[in-house]
Amino acid sequence: MPGHAHAPIVVRTALAALLLLVTVMIVFTTWQSTRVLTALAEQSLENTALALSHAAEKALRTPADPGEVRQVLSDRVVAYALIADGDGTILFHTNRRLVGTRLAGGKAAWMRAENPIGERIVLGTGLPAYQYDYPLERAGKTPQMLRLVLHTTSADAIMARAERMWWALGAVLALLWTLGLLFERLSMRSIRLEEKMERQRQLGLIGQMTAVLAHEIRNALGSVKGSVQLVVEKVAAADPVKPALALAIQGTARIETLVNDLLLFSREESYRIETVDLAEVAREAARYALEGWEGTATLDELPQARVVADREKLLRVVVNALKNAREAMSGPGRLDISIAAHGRWTTLTIADTGTGIAAEALARLFEPFFTTKTDGTGLGLAYAKKVLEGMQGSITLANRTDGPGAVLNIRLVSGRKERHG
Ligand code: ADP
Ligand code: MG
Repeated sequence: MPGHAHAPIVVRTALAALLLLVTVMIVFTTWQSTRVLTALAEQSLENTALALSHAAEKALRTPADPGEVRQVLSDRVVAYALIADGDGTILFHTNRRLVGTRLAGGKAAWMRAENPIGERIVLGTGLPAYQYDYPLERAGKTPQMLRLVLHTTSADAIMARAERMWWALGAVLALLWTLGLLFERLSMRSIRLEEKMERQRQLGLIGQMTAVLAHEIRNALGSVKGSVQLVVEKVAAADPVKPALALAIQGTARIETLVNDLLLFSREESYRIETVDLAEVAREAARYALEGWEGTATLDELPQARVVADREKLLRVVVNALKNAREAMSGPGRLDISIAAHGRWTTLTIADTGTGIAAEALARLFEPFFTTKTDGTGLGLAYAKKVLEGMQGSITLANRTDGPGAVLNIRLVSGRKERHG
């Protein structure tokens, strides 16, 4: 499936784009709300100031009650208020003691202003405030200015709400991204799992194909071998064709080994699990694998050791292990074969005095078709790994630490003494 390899990238990109989009949208909406809230806060300040100014102006026009202005300006939101004339002389002040003094800065520019001007200031006490200069219209007299300085508590409460909104937004975004990352982890895992299953399905297909092919080849090979052997028998010993025919028979034998190994390896295994004596299996394997070998093997002293295994497959595995060891020693050598039981597990160890294993080969030993031999199939260890794992066992192969040579371990589940296989 060609699209498969790109799936993680597509999912990641889509997820990241979605998260970014949502983030931008939320941030933008919040920013807009904050702007509206800020404008609203300013507006409310200005409205209050304007309303108060109007009320004060109206009170000034009714000379009957001069105390009314003071009453109007005694509102809780008013920090202080004053009326000054063009020279900056304070004609009225909510703090009576300041009446008659001059405004700091004297004849200020604001006296020329046509319209009210509001701005935020900081009071001498350090508190924020809103200053509102309102030109009074009093016909016939010199221009006068009403200055209102308001507390901003209510407006600031609105601003605080806007700020809280940003915090809430931060929390929401953090949650969103955490969920997004979590989702990414989970979906990546499921995609990887799916890919693994797909790979295994393909391997299974290849296995089936191999089995069919190997089977056909073996059948055809059988008739080729039979025919050649028939001809060999008919040909006289001195005939020059004889060596060629011998070569042909050798070739078929070689193909036969490969095809048999292939069939073994690609077969869908079913296991006949029983309790077997590992020592007895090792001795039988040695009879096949070490026939005619001139080295020494410590086999006879092996104690009885019951393990849970498919005997036939285990025998094949041990035969190959011993053959490998023998081939690695190329001549006489010493095979140290031992069995150790340790609780749930029983291990067969075969240590040889051969060439050992090259560093670059170590990681590939159990790969199908990995071989360093000209006539090897590279299927022996791969088969061993497959079937041992099918019996809940395992196999390792490494270099000896106490000298040249390799050491192979076959670990199996220990069997109970009373069981009869
Ligand atoms: P084959 O025997 O057909 O080569 P195997 O799967 O049995 O295939 O072994 C794979 C390879 O592992 C061998 O070609 C050899 O390089 C290496 N090997 C296996 N056993 C030993 C050993 N006892 N000492 C050194 N190398 C070994
Ligand atoms: Mg082998």
